[in-house]
Amino acid sequence: MSGGRVRIYEVGPRDGLQNEARVIATQDKRRFIEALVAAGLREVEATSFVRPDRVPQLADADALLPSLPRVDGLRYPVLVANRAGLDRAAAAGADAIAVFTAATDGFARHNIGMDVAASLAAFAPLLVEAGSRGWWRRGYVSTAFGCPYDGRVLATQPVEVALRLLELGVDEVCFGDTIGVGVPSQVADLTRLALDAGIPVERIAYHFHDTRGTALANVAAALAAGARTFDASTGGTGGCPYAPGAAGNLATEDLVYLLDGEGYEHGVSLDGVLEAARLVSGLLGRSLASKVGQAGGWQPPEAT
Ligand code: MG
Repeated sequence: MSGGRVRIYEVGPRDGLQNEARVIATQDKRRFIEALVAAGLREVEATSFVRPDRVPQLADADALLPSLPRVDGLRYPVLVANRAGLDRAAAAGADAIAVFTAATDGFARHNIGMDVAASLAAFAPLLVEAGSRGWWRRGYVSTAFGCPYDGRVLATQPVEVALRLLELGVDEVCFGDTIGVGVPSQVADLTRLALDAGIPVERIAYHFHDTRGTALANVAAALAAGARTFDASTGGTGGCPYAPGAAGNLATEDLVYLLDGEGYEHGVSLDGVLEAARLVSGLLGRSLASKVGQAGGWQPPEAT
């Protein structure tokens, strides 16, 4: 029953924490990331080099990144939005970056202050510079299934943006269900369209939100369509900024449980993730938002 290899891209330290009001100390973030690495995660989006006044929780990026453990095969992508951020990331020892745009102009304008075309023009020199430094590069395409401003999104829209990002040199595009409205048939359609457009499957990642309870169903649809890279946030941190109090990021422990049961190899220990999840929930002072965090894994009893 082996489905092959799946990559789990951990977003807890960046996407999970960025909207948290309680500021977490740098050394506690480091402990959290160390626990993620100990759990076997090898791609951990660590922080964001954006304006500290915009995202106060991640204002310690310059101190955090160089303090993290470096292991062979371990990647700590960081978010950058402009030249100043790229320079800060370089000074802190970054070797992997992510840039953030959208499938829809409405979301891009509200979120990053530019329409999609302008954001691509702004990122182009950053991606060239990062490429010349030999860095790994990811491009996020948010609102891939629905937009809080522009409404329904056709699969052609995120694919179009993904193709532009790939032309600009990204190693991977990540389709994000930013407001958690996508359903499996949309995921199947988008994956098929992306593959038909010539995007290699190993360059496609998905970032699902569980806002309306569809995240794991969407993972299953993406797996069936051939996708093999998924974002997740340990502890299920990172609520939905567009639905106060609602769930956001798919929890890493929920993803790991599904992948284990389905026979996919991913190198991540469920117990290790649960340990990291308990650590982050303690830091945030609240209970875990994930299903498996609540219930635990399952060791079948011996039949009698
Ligand atoms: Mg997210």
